[in-house]
Amino acid sequence: MVQNCIFCKIANKEIPTELIYEDNDTVAFNDINPTAPTHILVIPKKHIESLNELDDKNIMAALLNTVKEVTKKLDIKNYRTVINTGKEAGQEVFHIHLHVISGRPLKWPPG
Ligand code: 5GP
Ligand code: ZN
Repeated sequence: MVQNCIFCKIANKEIPTELIYEDNDTVAFNDINPTAPTHILVIPKKHIESLNELDDKNIMAALLNTVKEVTKKLDIKNYRTVINTGKEAGQEVFHIHLHVISGRPLKWPPG
């Protein structure tokens, strides 16, 4: 738990947020500023700044497993999973999160 980390507060339930999925290691919830009809964030409960700092294979697996649980629950078959790592790559919140984006055609390559 890191002071002033918004995602730690969500994972800790200090900020009440509807959770789409929760297990021992992760939570999933809607992005506050969705870029598509479905835009979900998957985060570890533990504060890890970015993929650069993630070295726990159990948490890596738990995060992808949660993507699977969420897409299964919402019956989503077409979606994009994104991890922005570092400011120049678009990371704004430095508590690692996976974006799950769906519900509209998605262009490639991303901007
Ligand atoms: P990043 O740019 O770091 O990859 O993504 C951060 C994401 O977190 C953005 O899509 C932004 O809309 C979302 N976000 C920022 N603050 C909050 C918040 O307080 N609650 C929720 N649910 N999402 C947030
Ligand atoms: Zn945090």
